[in-house]
Order: sequence, then structure tokens, then C-alpha cells
Amino acid sequence: PHWVLARTPPEGWPVDADFAWRETPAPSPGPGQMLTRTIYLSLDPYQWGRRRRGVEAVGEVCHGRTVSQVVESRLEGYAPGDFLFNTNGWQTYGLTGEGISTFGYMFPRKLDPSLAPISSAVGVMGMLGLTAYAGLYVQCAPQAGETVVISAASGGVGQVAGQLAKLRGCRVVGIAGRAEKCAYVKDDLGFDECISHLDPDFAERLRAACPDGVDVYFENVGGRVFEAVLGLFNNGARITLCGLASQYGAMGEDIIEAWKAAGEKTFSERHMSVHPLFVGDYVATHQERFLAEMGDWLRNGHIRYREDIHEGLETAPRAFQSMLAGGTFGKTLVRVSTD
Ligand code: NDP
Repeated sequence: PHWVLARTPPEGWPVDADFAWRETPAPSPGPGQMLTRTIYLSLDPYQWGRRRRGVEAVGEVCHGRTVSQVVESRLEGYAPGDFLFNTNGWQTYGLTGEGISTFGYMFPRKLDPSLAPISSAVGVMGMLGLTAYAGLYVQCAPQAGETVVISAASGGVGQVAGQLAKLRGCRVVGIAGRAEKCAYVKDDLGFDECISHLDPDFAERLRAACPDGVDVYFENVGGRVFEAVLGLFNNGARITLCGLASQYGAMGEDIIEAWKAAGEKTFSERHMSVHPLFVGDYVATHQERFLAEMGDWLRNGHIRYREDIHEGLETAPRAFQSMLAGGTFGKTLVRVSTD
């Protein structure tokens, strides 16, 4: 079975009618290909942007990164039983290898289940962890004692970014939705503060949590949250522009240009640097070192993470809708089959 995009999505957020369930037999691998069984499917905000912009065609299997296991291989170096990070999309079985388009990542990465739980390959020990690492350490390089603010702080990227800032000795202030998320970010992940953007006094509470201003901002959501941070930047502050999750339902405007226009006066007056981030730019240069370091941090307990796992491929559209609305808690995954 698999999910396809059922229509060109209209303005706004995903609904059930955007997706259609299809049942087809598992395909057979051709030369240079392998058949893999999906174990975990990663649900990520960017998937909605792709669907909205028409990158994903109507009737096409919905795109998504996956953790899977090789069932049958005609690709050298891969054998049945191997665990992989790959891009099966929203389906139970997929082909990987020659002639299979996987949006940027043609080649799978083998996983060693003894190093970390395999689900983490689409989260902390994969693209999301690398996103946090590249944005925070490579682009913004926070110094001990500086104040770092992280939006969507309990989500897949945010939870890692904040802990990386703590490892550098920063004062770290998270921004999240519901109270239980804020409590988790502060009490379990060790951020200094976490402020709810749902609080009517959000902007004032954020200001009070940053008495020395803001030196680094890891932008995941945009909108009202960004407006509240904007007044708090110190001279020489740095921003990683990682994502604008609150804006992905918008149509007919360039959300990045609108974000820049809202900030440009402040950016220039306070001599700030803004770093747009695309994690794919850091795979060749930083992924190997990142995976080694993150493996150590996980084993010695310096970095913790939370996953929100939904059971069964049928749940994917609803879990996806919930994630975009802040309903899920931690990195959002679907368990498609057992590991
Ligand atoms: P998350 O797990 O953080 O999920 C998105 C979260 O955004 C929601 O859970 C919600 O958290 C928050 N959110 C949604 N709407 C609003 C709103 N109106 N106001 C405030 N917060 C809102 O997703 P990821 O960790 O996967 O991704 C985080 C960001 O990183 C996204 O913007 C994504 O596109 C980006 N990204 C960028 C990459 C790159 O290469 N640049 C790579 C990977 C991710 P809450 O309930 O706390 O409000």
C-alpha cells in the first residue's frame, strides 16, 4: 500500500482530501536496484511545501525519508537484512538504486543498529540532527555566556539545537506551544527557560527570559514568534534561517522574502548576519564528523531526544496534519512495519 497526493492542494493546511490510499503489489528490483521494506517513515514540514509548490505531482507516491530493511537486492554492496536510511516515501515497500529518483539523495546510507536505535536515522542521528548542528555550530558559532533562542524547541530540529547550545555553555531559551512541551524542554532537556507562544503575554515573557538580549536565534517558525524575537537582538547577533513552519500554508507570496522584509531594518541597524540553511549543503562536508560526535553525545547522555511515533501507514495523513498544527510532540514518525 501507499499514499498518493490526491489533488493540487488549495490554500492552507493539509486535510484528508489531499491524500488517497492505493494498494498495489510490491515491485521487483531491476538491475542495480533493491527492494526495501519501510520500517519508519519521517514526517517533516518541508513535505507540505513540496506538495503546495507542485514539486510532487498529483497521483505520485507522497515523498518522505525512511528507515527500511533490504528484502531483495540487485545492487552491489547491499544484502537482504541490511538496515538503511533511504527515501521510500509514504509506502510499505520501495525500490532504491539506479533510475529511482529520490529527491537529492540517490544513495542510501547503511545503519548499524548497535550504534543507535534505527529510528534516529531520520531524526537526531540524521538530517534533523545535522540541520541543528550546521545551523548552530557552523553558521552561528555561539560562545559561552551568549543567549541563544530556539523556536519550535520541542520539535525534531529544535530539541537538538538547544542542547547543542547548552553544550557550548550558552543561556538557552526555547519557544514552544503547549505547557507540557515547555516543561519537557526545560526540565528534561535542560534549557534555561521555555516560553509558550500561546501565552497572551508571550512577547513580554520572552523579553524577561532574555535580560541580556539575544545573540543567536535559530528560526524554525517565523510569523508572530519572529516578530517577538526581533526587538531583542544585540549588536552582531546571528540568525540561522532554518524554516518558517508557521507560514507553510500561505500561498501567493514568497515567505522568505516577506520574512527578510520584516527584519531588514533591524538586521542592518544591529549589524546582524542572517544565514539561510539548506542541510543538503552540509552532507558531504560535515555529516561524517557530525554522526561520530552525535553518537558519542547520545551514548554519554549529553543529548536526549523525544519521538512521537504513530502506528501504521494508514495514520500518515492525520499525523502529518497534526505535526504542522503543533499537535505532535517531538520528532514525528510513522511505524510502517516492525523492526
Ligand atoms: P517540528 O517537529 O518542529 O514541527 C513543526 C513545529 O512547528 C510544530 O510542532 C509546532 O511546534 C511549530 N509551529 C507550527 N505552527 C506554528 C505557529 N503558528 N507558531 C509557532 N510555532 C508553530 O518540525 P522539524 O523539527 O522537522 O522542523 C523544524 C523546522 O526546521 C521547520 O521549519 C522545517 O521546515 C525546518 N527544516 C529545515 C531544514 C533545512 O535544511 N533548512 C531541514 C529540516 C527541517 P509548537 O507546538 O511548539 O508550536
